[in-house]
Amino acid sequence: MIKEFKVQYEERERKLSELQPYEVALLRRTIEICAEAKARGDHPFGCLLADAEGNILMEQGNEEVTRGGDCTSHAEALLMRKASQIYDKEAMSKLTMYNCADSCAMCTGAMYWGNLGRMVYICPESKLKEVTGDDIRNPTLNLPSAVVIACGQKPMEIVGPFPELVPDFLALHEGYWDKGS
Ligand SMILES: [Zn+2]
Repeated sequence: MIKEFKVQYEERERKLSELQPYEVALLRRTIEICAEAKARGDHPFGCLLADAEGNILMEQGNEEVTRGGDCTSHAEALLMRKASQIYDKEAMSKLTMYNCADSCAMCTGAMYWGNLGRMVYICPESKLKEVTGDDIRNPTLNLPSAVVIACGQKPMEIVGPFPELVPDFLALHEGYWDKGS
């Protein structure tokens, strides 16, 4: 028996003017976290967790290299692992993750299981995939987090992409990946 899974998804590009100024600052901070990860030898990805007033509760960069090749050490998965030991599911539903890029299926799964309320991201996977190619270190999926969440039983608000900040994020990735031919 063939089972088909179909989810409707229309990506809408956002303008920074749709966000509060403090939210724009938080998105810019995620790019700095990416640069910090890259500087210590990890992949240039980063995210942070903030409360409804925009106070930063936690920051996390990618640590795959730092953690000896642990493939689950994407920034968002690490953040969710730590945050879910501090904040219960009710508390987590009121928090927002600010993220340099849309999340892979693994990290989106961690947000789903942790009951994160909202995620705001800069760069769509489709744009990231253009610079990573099929590099075995980061064979980027083309599976928007919104599609993963749409298959779940509960909503999570997802806001992005924000093209105005994409060049600043992707500048950290140019020449970094072996994107093949
Ligand atoms: Zn991930």
